Amino acid sequence: MKNLTLKFLFVFLFIPILSSAQIKVNYKVFYHNKLEDEGLKITLSYNLKKASDSTYFHYSNDVWGQKNIMNCLKIIEKDNPNLKFKIVSDSNRIVVYHPKTKKISFTYRILQDAKETSSASNRPRVKNNFFHILGQSLFVVPEDAYHLKIQPANIEANIEWTDFPNDFKIHNTFGTNQKKQIIKAKLDEEFYHSLFVGGDYRIYDFKYQEKPVYLAIRGKWFNDYQDEKILETLKKTIPTQRNFWKDNAFDYYTVIMTPSNSEIDTLFKGQSMTGSGVKNGFLIQSSNNKFNNYDVIRYVFNHEMMHDWIGGKIKMKNEELNYWFSEGFTDYYTFKNRLQSGDLTLKDWLRDFNKEVLQLHWKNPKKNEPNYVIKDDFWKSRNVEKIPYRRGAIFAFWLDNQILKKSNYKKSLDDVMREILKICVEQNKLFSDDFFLEIVQKYLEKDIKELTYFFQKHIINGVDFDLKNEDLIPEFQIEYVEKIPKINMEEKSLNKYILK
Ligand SMILES: [Zn+2]
Repeated sequence: MKNLTLKFLFVFLFIPILSSAQIKVNYKVFYHNKLEDEGLKITLSYNLKKASDSTYFHYSNDVWGQKNIMNCLKIIEKDNPNLKFKIVSDSNRIVVYHPKTKKISFTYRILQDAKETSSASNRPRVKNNFFHILGQSLFVVPEDAYHLKIQPANIEANIEWTDFPNDFKIHNTFGTNQKKQIIKAKLDEEFYHSLFVGGDYRIYDFKYQEKPVYLAIRGKWFNDYQDEKILETLKKTIPTQRNFWKDNAFDYYTVIMTPSNSEIDTLFKGQSMTGSGVKNGFLIQSSNNKFNNYDVIRYVFNHEMMHDWIGGKIKMKNEELNYWFSEGFTDYYTFKNRLQSGDLTLKDWLRDFNKEVLQLHWKNPKKNEPNYVIKDDFWKSRNVEKIPYRRGAIFAFWLDNQILKKSNYKKSLDDVMREILKICVEQNKLFSDDFFLEIVQKYLEKDIKELTYFFQKHIINGVDFDLKNEDLIPEFQIEYVEKIPKINMEEKSLNKYILK
């Protein structure tokens, strides 16, 4: 009797919850040898719960700082006889009017609307020989997903890549070379936080402790950007980062590297490389000219891979307002882990940290802007964008030193990072300022009020750090050159900073 009751409860309580937590959508993506003109044609099919004669679909008009992405979406009549459409860009909405039915299917196309440039483009790129489109800008989803009882919504996307010739590679952050993909993922933070590419990509793979890693790269690169060398750098970065976190739980992982416009005679003298972390990997877009500098790749690989944890497994509660941590601490550990792995010598590390972090921060005219400004102006002002990276890295450096001092070199900020990871993963907890301060307080044995005051003053309000020798372990010396702090350390002291 008891068993029966339990079964009864299970069936009637759990099934409705499961079914309302996920939507299922089928996508058929078609190849065309004139993709640039025709666009990537996609037929979406979706079953409604109740028969209706109009259905709302979602397509994001603003993506990663890019406006009017709706311009890249084209719906043409010959693909959709018997259907009518209304696009409401401001609401990220496509209304489809159809004969009363439960089964709806329509076809749209994604085209490139922008000219090729030498800097990264987060807009869809669709050429005859390749495409490069963020998941969010490739897949229209039913608006139902955002009205499910349980949020964030899950999606099951069945994708069929149709008529693609074998030499036109299909690769994305969910799989490689699969003509049929079933992706079950959280809609916003996974399915939409992804990249889909195809075309003349060269795909390499290797395993790190049984876990597969892929590199997809296209284009003919200048200088020493050879596939082999880039693959070697990736092979070296993976163990550095995964050993630091003591975490190798990645069933699929890929780096996708694409040149923005390749220029032989260029007006642009320099390199512009952008890395962006997505679900199961990261993408790199870079200018490609004779100014290609290999050191930039090493930096970006380490920075982006750090986001597998910071921002990836450790999820932020308040996105931009937490950038001081998700970008600043990421950058700090980009530098520290490269020093630890030998990718940077101490001399190089000092040079880079002094220049890229301390000097550039002190010279940034926006350096004293309060933290909330970052939320509004991150994509608008390059100087504002840079604040959280450097302010956060300086805070991390200060904290690291404080913990080393307090623990007599037994513990460092590294331990704090791993503890944060553990709690966030095990307890499904989001990172917040308060949570961070609570953990740090244990390591510093500091009064939480005093720590909160320090944090408020420098991170939230933007008052300059007043770095002094007595804040740091004695192995670091600090001097002020034209009122800008500069740190120094002798080679023999390195093992006091990098604990084995
Ligand atoms: Zn970053």
